[in-house]
Amino acid sequence: MDSSNLNILERLERDYPTTPEIVRLKAALLFEGVQFDPCLVDAASWAFPNFMPYHLPPGVPAIGGGRVVQTPYLFRFPDDTQARLRIKEQSPFKVRRTDEGPYELFIDGTRVTATSFETRQPWADLITADGTPMKATGLSQHGDMLVLNVAPGCEYFVVPQDDSTRTRNLSCKFCLYGLPDKRMDPLGQELYIIDVPEPTLERVVEACIHPKTDAKQLYLVGGSMLDMQAEGDRFVQIAEHLKRAGLMDRYYVACGSGAIPRRSMEQLKELGVRGACFNLEVWDPEQFQRVCPGKHEIVGRDAWIESLEIAVEVFGRGHVMSAFVGGAELEGEGCFASPDLALESAIEAGEFLTARGIHAVYSLHWKMTGKNRGQEPIYTLDFFLKLNEGLREIRRRHNLPINADFFSKRAAYMQLEPDYDAASNEAV
Ligand code: SF4
Repeated sequence: MDSSNLNILERLERDYPTTPEIVRLKAALLFEGVQFDPCLVDAASWAFPNFMPYHLPPGVPAIGGGRVVQTPYLFRFPDDTQARLRIKEQSPFKVRRTDEGPYELFIDGTRVTATSFETRQPWADLITADGTPMKATGLSQHGDMLVLNVAPGCEYFVVPQDDSTRTRNLSCKFCLYGLPDKRMDPLGQELYIIDVPEPTLERVVEACIHPKTDAKQLYLVGGSMLDMQAEGDRFVQIAEHLKRAGLMDRYYVACGSGAIPRRSMEQLKELGVRGACFNLEVWDPEQFQRVCPGKHEIVGRDAWIESLEIAVEVFGRGHVMSAFVGGAELEGEGCFASPDLALESAIEAGEFLTARGIHAVYSLHWKMTGKNRGQEPIYTLDFFLKLNEGLREIRRRHNLPINADFFSKRAAYMQLEPDYDAASNEAV
């Protein structure tokens, strides 16, 4: 059949017959987005909200007298598949709702499936005993995963020069979230200081303890420190608080730091931390140096990989992960000359890491420049599916499916690895 007559789901079914249907749908939504519909604004009253409001385009009537509206951040499908929701006017997808009925997803007017959205959890609207909004304690949530970040400022942005009067910016090229800024003030974070203030930790623990987080994973992250040992000590301090609060059994706690020394990993393990994720971001050595100058200069790629291998010895096979910013290697001066080279490199990363008991996980990186910055991925939909099919085959060969306790499909809003493996399990 002429592919121009096929909608995107039909085309993907033809071209990726072994990719599970729900994964094809999720991938298509990540790239195509969904048209605006007023039912999305209704859903935003209870759903986890998008941090960017939506500006109604000309021709769409104002809602409640306004042209700037809230919409949900995440789709949640009946089988718990989660996907980032982006509104794109040209999308073939549309969400509709009839009266009080279920939300339904359509493509070109044909019903695809029932759908819904991740809800805003009760803890996010509460305040702590000292009057701090819980959502300002350094805790955020997407589905199954709570992300705890009480020290967001990354020292790679401000590396002291030899004369120590000036600093160099060695931050990763794609990174905006690690910039040391005013978010550090209420958390009491100070650059080059290991300890997180006790009140900060008490507040965030209070939020984690809330009985209705509806989360299973607690992922500890933070900006990198220039001293690996110092960074390890900081995560040990955080883990000690979580253990004292009895949270190690309730959540699968994982350490999402930079590369840290073996002794720190062992201390974390003794405290009850079950997994580790040290993100390489980019696999190819030259691209790693270009995209992650701080990780390259301060730790080094070989030491980073060695740290991941040690983490497998400490936490076990399938309890260690490294995330990649899929597309960073194809953006900017000095990037890979072709997507084929990027795909080859990503498959090499998968082969190398999976063979050593480490999960390689690719998140979509969104264009940072141009009119549609933040809206369009650098990878194409076909690239993303080919990459994920390749990684699935590698995981199968090494009998290392994504550990759903560590990273479930209800936490993976911009990755496909858990979805592929969960769908394979469900099909058995
Ligand atoms: S190390 Fe992490 S926080 Fe720091 S610049 Fe790189 S990605 Fe951002």
